[in-house]
Amino acid sequence: MFDFKISYLGTERPILVIDDELLTFKYDGENFLVHKRYLGDISVLAEWWLRKQAATYIQDRVVEISEKTGIDGYKRIRISNAVSRWGSCSSNKTLSFNWRLIMAPIDVIDYVIVHELAHLVEMNHSKKFWGILGEIMPDYMDKRRWLRIHGRKLMMFNKNP
Ligand SMILES: [Zn+2]
Repeated sequence: MFDFKISYLGTERPILVIDDELLTFKYDGENFLVHKRYLGDISVLAEWWLRKQAATYIQDRVVEISEKTGIDGYKRIRISNAVSRWGSCSSNKTLSFNWRLIMAPIDVIDYVIVHELAHLVEMNHSKKFWGILGEIMPDYMDKRRWLRIHGRKLMMFNKNP
């Protein structure tokens, strides 16, 4: 039996194979649907869809969290395909986020966003940096732990050898 699942915002959603000529691939809010002819391309289709969601979701969430925390000053938001990196903040104030983050739970995505925003204040991992992070997100250690335990699996999704 075909039992591939796609994780989206922390929930594993089943993929249903269907025989509807009008449909290639879509998400109906609960399941992913794929036409049987495109089953072989499922990981490519899933990546295309997840990247699109990541671009919108993360962009919007950065703006929201930036407004809520008052941490501003980033120049650009990029969705990256970086190997083994969930996010980064460059010296020219570009925030980058790995598209695979969209597979993680919402609070874990928030943690990575808060982490990179905090780098706009402290461009290092000093005590002061973790202090800022702890003020914004007191339980950030739980999210880091989640990424340590489950992040590897998400990072492997469609990763080039
Ligand atoms: Zn960092």
